[in-house]
Amino acid sequence: MTQPHSVNELLTRAQQEAASEILQDVEPAEVASELAENALEFTDRMIVRGLSQSPRSEQPACAIHCTSCCHLHTTASVPEVILLAERVRVAIVPLEPLRENLSRHITQTTGLNANERRQMRLPCPLLKDGMCLVYEARPLVCRGWNSLEKQRCEADLVSPERGTQALLNVKQYRAASHIAQGLANAIQSFGLDARPLDLVRGLSIALEHADAATHWHSGDNLFASAVQELVFPPSV
Ligand code: SF4
Repeated sequence: MTQPHSVNELLTRAQQEAASEILQDVEPAEVASELAENALEFTDRMIVRGLSQSPRSEQPACAIHCTSCCHLHTTASVPEVILLAERVRVAIVPLEPLRENLSRHITQTTGLNANERRQMRLPCPLLKDGMCLVYEARPLVCRGWNSLEKQRCEADLVSPERGTQALLNVKQYRAASHIAQGLANAIQSFGLDARPLDLVRGLSIALEHADAATHWHSGDNLFASAVQELVFPPSV
């Protein structure tokens, strides 16, 4: 008898199917941002559903101006950084201060692996006055990460040697990570680059190349210098 699929497997499969349709039907210049929008929207819906099924004790404590996790290292897929670059160009004028921040962040973290970057607790360059400048387009990693206790995040921020000891709403975290996996599966099955990128380096490249979407779709290795280990730990 075949085993029923877990909710997480169903999320991965549903996202993979939706992304495959987009990859098949949408024009090359639009496909990356459409893939990202689709995955972000699906993730938001699944997170709302998961939280509605979680008891009060498992509701995240995350709130506006609560930015400890924006000082961790973040990864994102190519479609996500392309969408972010599109939104950044519209929302942030002039762009020069952000470009300088991205460049400074890259210099400070060159040669470090994901864990070492996390240890530095550098603020994400998209963080300003305690807010994400492009919150609506923030990546899947940012949507999935959460904390049931604000104090733990604050303690982690001032004492990076503790690691990250946040207690998570696991449904929220897993929804984002399994949808990210479905997106990556679809991209890979079309022979495109599905490797997770360092968010800062990926965004910097996407901002430098207005035609990044078509480069990626044609198989160019444009984002090679931004490739990083995945942030979602598989065991959570
Ligand atoms: S993209 Fe936005 S939500 Fe994500 S780490 Fe950066 S500032 Fe925080």
